[in-house]
Amino acid sequence: MEKHLICIMCPMGCNLTVKEENGEISVTGNGCNRGVVFAKEELTCPKRIVTTSVKTKNGVKACKTTAPIPKNLMFDCVKEIEKLRLKDAKFGQIIIKNVLGTGADVIVTANE
Ligand code: SF4
Repeated sequence: MEKHLICIMCPMGCNLTVKEENGEISVTGNGCNRGVVFAKEELTCPKRIVTTSVKTKNGVKACKTTAPIPKNLMFDCVKEIEKLRLKDAKFGQIIIKNVLGTGADVIVTANE
C-alpha cells in the first residue's frame, strides 16, 4: 500500500510518501522526523486540533483543543462545546477538562 500525504506539522508542508509492507511503515519525502511521526499517526490514528466557538451570554468566543484529538471524536467534541452557555470566558480559560477522555482540554482563544 502506498499513500501520499502533506505533512501539516510545520509550514514547509513536505510531500510524504508512505508505504506499508508486511506491517512495516516507511516514510520518504520528510524534511525531519516529525513527518515520520505524523505519517504513521495518520495511518493508525489520525488526530486534529478542534477549533470552534463557544456560546456566552454576550455572543460567542473562539475556542480550541489544547492538543490534537482523534479525528473520529471531532464532531462529538464540537457537540460537547455546543452544550455550554458560559456567563463569562477569559482568554486561556479551560472550559472543558480532558474532553471525551482524550487528555486534551478545551480553552478559550479570544479576549472578546
Ligand atoms: S516533515 Fe518536518 S519539515 Fe517537513 S512539513 Fe513535516 S515537520 Fe515540517
